[in-house]
Amino acid sequence: MDRSPITRRVFLAAAVLAPVFLYPTKAFAASSAEPTPACGAGTATPPQTEGPFFKPRSPERKSLVEPGVQGAAIVVEGRVLSTGCRPVAGALVDFWQADASGAYDNSGFKLRGHQFTDGAGRYRLETIVPGLYPGRTRHFHVRVQAPDRPVLTTQLYFPGEPGNRRDGIFNPRLLLELRDSDQAKTGRFDFLLDLG
Ligand code: FE
Repeated sequence: MDRSPITRRVFLAAAVLAPVFLYPTKAFAASSAEPTPACGAGTATPPQTEGPFFKPRSPERKSLVEPGVQGAAIVVEGRVLSTGCRPVAGALVDFWQADASGAYDNSGFKLRGHQFTDGAGRYRLETIVPGLYPGRTRHFHVRVQAPDRPVLTTQLYFPGEPGNRRDGIFNPRLLLELRDSDQAKTGRFDFLLDLG
């Protein structure tokens, strides 16, 4: 495979990203809608156990905040990309999570929802920070599926969470890139799918 297009992409990505590192606070507002160029390594997002609480047929929605859902607001956003950095449009992104007290809704669909990436491979979910429950660190569950391709089931984690060190499932490659401002908490993550 000719690697030069990827190399050029990474170079351009680094040039775009440089001001973010230099001026993190100022750049946040300006860059929040821009893609995170994190796909250069070419390594697929690792799968993780589904756990016991997945439910099929979650509602299609981009916000899990509804009456009865309380907790610290967070936006989880990013892109679905191939390991070759190509955006995947129309990919399924299906989240499920515990509520602020650490409980899953297994009778209904609270804090469960799926959506499809836009033409640039982007997804964006408004939700709350999941609570803790015994034996696990703080996490989101998610299934990601490019059209007509296998499902990637994995989990996303919070940086600086004390429980990360004690959780045998935790994987630092699945850490959200967390931004916290007065207005909003945002966690970014790009899913990289090995699409051959
Ligand atoms: Fe869980």
